[in-house]
Amino acid sequence: MSLKNKLRAGICFLFLLALLCSGLAAYYLQRLSSESNAILKDNYRSITYTQNIGNLLDAPLTAANLSAIQANLTAQKQNVTEIGERQLTRSLQNLFNSYQKAGGNPALLGQLSFKMRATIDAIVRINMKSIEFKGQIANNTAKHGLIIIALMGSFCFLIGFSFLVNFPDYIATPVTKLAEGLEQVTIKNEAKTNLIATISHELKTPISSIKMSLKLLEDSRVGQVNTEQRQLIENITDDTQRLLQITGELLNMAQVETGKIQLNFGSAHPKDIVDYAVKALKFIADQRRVSIKVYYDDNLPNVRADLDKTTWVLINLLSNAIKYSSENAFIELSVKKIRSNSIEFSVKDYGKGIEPQYLDRVFERYFKIPGINSGQPGTGLGLAIAKDFIEAQAGKIGVESQLNQGSRFYFWLAVG
Ligand code: ADP
Repeated sequence: MSLKNKLRAGICFLFLLALLCSGLAAYYLQRLSSESNAILKDNYRSITYTQNIGNLLDAPLTAANLSAIQANLTAQKQNVTEIGERQLTRSLQNLFNSYQKAGGNPALLGQLSFKMRATIDAIVRINMKSIEFKGQIANNTAKHGLIIIALMGSFCFLIGFSFLVNFPDYIATPVTKLAEGLEQVTIKNEAKTNLIATISHELKTPISSIKMSLKLLEDSRVGQVNTEQRQLIENITDDTQRLLQITGELLNMAQVETGKIQLNFGSAHPKDIVDYAVKALKFIADQRRVSIKVYYDDNLPNVRADLDKTTWVLINLLSNAIKYSSENAFIELSVKKIRSNSIEFSVKDYGKGIEPQYLDRVFERYFKIPGINSGQPGTGLGLAIAKDFIEAQAGKIGVESQLNQGSRFYFWLAVG
């Protein structure tokens, strides 16, 4: 059974128990109420009517009193419920009829009034007996109900208690297993990321030395190479450069992935960062015949940033701009102060641009825009790492672009 269904079943079960208990209590309360209602309706009213008649017999024999007696008698006739009560009520009516007719004869009146009282007593006694009997029944119902509800309550308590003890374990066991599994996966992932970091770090040194050797090979003092050999050397140089870039990105990604971005904050003039980045890309830009125009605001303050990582981000944005521009295009790199305490670095190209639906996605890991750009070499990691680097410095990175008009990538850092 799935965790959700287990929880559902558990809660349903407790709910049913509670429903059963309250149902039983309601049933017994209802029984008690109808039994006491019966006493009130059947007997208590009969006693009241007949006692009213008895009181009126003591009063003077006026027309109003006589009609009040008749009214009580009529009500009593309609409220006969006990065996023998009907006969007694009927004889009370007969006696009252004679009583009304014997107006002038006090001896007869006394006699009739005595007989009527005796009949009233009999009716009261019958009803009192019935009240006693029904009271006993109600009492039994109450006792019975109390026992059943107490038993049911104890049963529910026991079940509820064992539920309280066992159910959390029942639910928690799979959750704990899941958490343990997740922890294992996290540990494995971390190990994998560490492995990537180690490998890319270890690869960097031999690749750099290959690069050095290639530089030596190109030098005529080492020896002459023919045209074909020069071409081969150039190819190897390109591939080596690419390898270096990939290992660098993998290393950065491993740092980001393990949450171990180490920042070395310092204060530098934006010009230093820009100069370094432009110099680093001059060769590639020249090769593609792309020119980089740089614009600075006057009186730019220093920026507070990790210089290595910020330069890395700027190089990445510039190299993308070069990569996605057509030949002979130009790129605008501008630095200006925005708001009171931020510096904006912006790289604008006039290349293919980005479709609106991909604008947010370009900062996702391994994302490359499908279609026209997908032939370009690249890992799809550069912008994701750039985002992590800038955000780790409490900055903001973004892009504005229009298809076929070009893109503007920018990031903001604090003045400092
Ligand atoms: P990549 O190594 O593929 O360049 P990035 O993370 O730097 O990886 O870029 C992700 C994707 O964003 C690229 O594959 C490309 O499709 C798109 N992109 C990045 N910069 C530009 C740009 N200046 N103009 C057009 N598309 C770009």
